[in-house]
Amino acid sequence: MGRLLQFAALAFALALAALPTVAGEREPGAKLKVVTTIPDLADIVREVGGERVEVTSIARGKENLHNVISRPSHLVALSKADILVQVGLSMEMGFIPALLEGCGNPQVRPGGKGFINASDGWQPIQVPAVLTRQGGDLHPQGNPHMNIDPRAGRHFALRIAEGLSVVAPEWKAEFETRRDAYLARLERAEKRWLEFAREWRGRKFVVYHQEFNYLAEVYGLQIVANLEVKPGIQPTPNHLAQVIETMKREQCTVIATALWSKNDFVARVAEATGAKVVELPNMCGGIAGTDSWIAMLDLVHARLAAAFGTPVPPVQ
Ligand SMILES: [Zn+2]
Repeated sequence: MGRLLQFAALAFALALAALPTVAGEREPGAKLKVVTTIPDLADIVREVGGERVEVTSIARGKENLHNVISRPSHLVALSKADILVQVGLSMEMGFIPALLEGCGNPQVRPGGKGFINASDGWQPIQVPAVLTRQGGDLHPQGNPHMNIDPRAGRHFALRIAEGLSVVAPEWKAEFETRRDAYLARLERAEKRWLEFAREWRGRKFVVYHQEFNYLAEVYGLQIVANLEVKPGIQPTPNHLAQVIETMKREQCTVIATALWSKNDFVARVAEATGAKVVELPNMCGGIAGTDSWIAMLDLVHARLAAAFGTPVPPVQ
C-alpha cells in the first residue's frame, strides 16, 4: 500500500504543479469542502454545517480503522479540501500522514487552520504507562475508539463547530445554532440509551478488538478478555485457550465483534463456550441503518440488549 500511495502521491504532485490554482483559496460564500476520516465525523459535520458544507469521508464503515486503504481519490479530495476532520489519538496513523504528505495542501495539515483534531480535550482511557509501539500496539496514546462512546457525539459537535467557524467565521452564528439543535437531540438520545443500559452494570463480555471499551466504562460493563493478543496482534492458539478458560470461569456468555474482525476465531471461541456473538458497528455506515451517528448508537444499544437479554425500553 505504502509504495503504491507514494507513487500516486508523486504523480499527483506533478499534476498539481501543472495547475494554475493553489489549494486552500476559497471563494467568498463558497461551500466548505470538508474531508473526514470516518463517516461518524462526516455525519456530525453535516449536522453542524448544514448546507454550508460538502463532506466526504475516507473510511466507508466496514474497515478496520487501523488499516484503511488510501486511494488517489483521497489525495484529490484532500488537495481541494478547506477542512480535514480526524479523530486523532493515533487512530488514523496508518493512513493520514501519507495522505497529508502527498496532498500538497498545508491548510489541512496539523497546525493549518483547516485541521480539526476532534479528540482535542478528550480524556482517553487505557493510556499506556510507557509509550511504546513495540509488539505492534496500535493504541499508543490510549484507546482511540471514542466514537463508540455515547458521550462522543457532544464532544465531536463542539470541536467541529469551533473548527468550521475558524475557516468560515461569517457563518459562526449559524454553525452554533445548528450545533445547539444537534446537542438537544443528543441529550434525548443519551437518555434513551441510559434506559437500555439500566440493567447492564456488571454484565460481562469479551471483545475481538478493544473497540467497545468506552461503552463498557460508561455503563459499568466488564470486558473480561480480548481475542486479539494486543491491539493489532491476531489471536494465537494459546491465547484463545486462555480466553476460553476465562470465559468459562467468569460465566461470560457474550462476544462482541465487528465486521472487519477475524470472525473465524470468534466463531471458534463461541463454539467452545456456547457464547452468543453480537456484531456491533465500529463506525457509521458499515451496517444497514447506521448512516447517522445517533442511529448507529441506537443499533449498538439494541443489539447489546438483545445479547444480554435485558429489557428494551419503549420507543419514545
Ligand atoms: Zn483499535
